[in-house]
Amino acid sequence: MSINSKQSIKCPKCAQLTEITAWSSITADDSPDLKADLLSRRINIFKCEACSHIALLPSPLLYHDKEKKLLISFTPCNDNTMASQLFDNIKKTSKESGELKNYEDYNLRFVTGYDELLEKILIFDNGYHDKVIEVLKVLILMQEPDKADGRVAVFGKTDANALEFLIRDNKENQFYTSKIPLDSYNTISEQLLKSGVKYRSFDWELINLDYGAGLLRGINNVF
Ligand SMILES: [Zn+2]
Repeated sequence: MSINSKQSIKCPKCAQLTEITAWSSITADDSPDLKADLLSRRINIFKCEACSHIALLPSPLLYHDKEKKLLISFTPCNDNTMASQLFDNIKKTSKESGELKNYEDYNLRFVTGYDELLEKILIFDNGYHDKVIEVLKVLILMQEPDKADGRVAVFGKTDANALEFLIRDNKENQFYTSKIPLDSYNTISEQLLKSGVKYRSFDWELINLDYGAGLLRGINNVF
């Protein structure tokens, strides 16, 4: 079920009050329009009526795709320490309430960035799995290890033969694209499976580049 509330938000720049609909829950199967709005960054984004200042609402959002068995808990947060506390909290709360029983065979994700939320939706919509994607990102970034620190890789798009990643180099302020053959995706996917990685969740999971690096270390003997 998709849930919203009306909120009056004071612009952080000019103090003008703007009324906005804040969404706390979106179920993609029931609300395709809302999902489309989310993917075009129109959900929980505040735009000031007076000065056009744009900002993300600090409100959490739960994204649910019943068909794909995907549940993403998004809490906006830029601070790593705070993010790991929030992650611990959601695991604790879910354990206490026993609600995870309703999500067997699901992929449960915790994210703190809007871009990250949209990327996860895109990955699963295209029939891929983010655990494999994060490993591929590590492999892409390791092609130029001395530049890896300043770079961010994001899943972009896909066709029948390849997956395309967008690479942002924050130091050089440049964008690149990098293509990975679908065969490589499938090979990594099988290797991960053999090494015991599950393509479903037993609890909330934080699947990011660090997670991908950890998986790669686990299957490193095959490379
Ligand atoms: Zn304003």
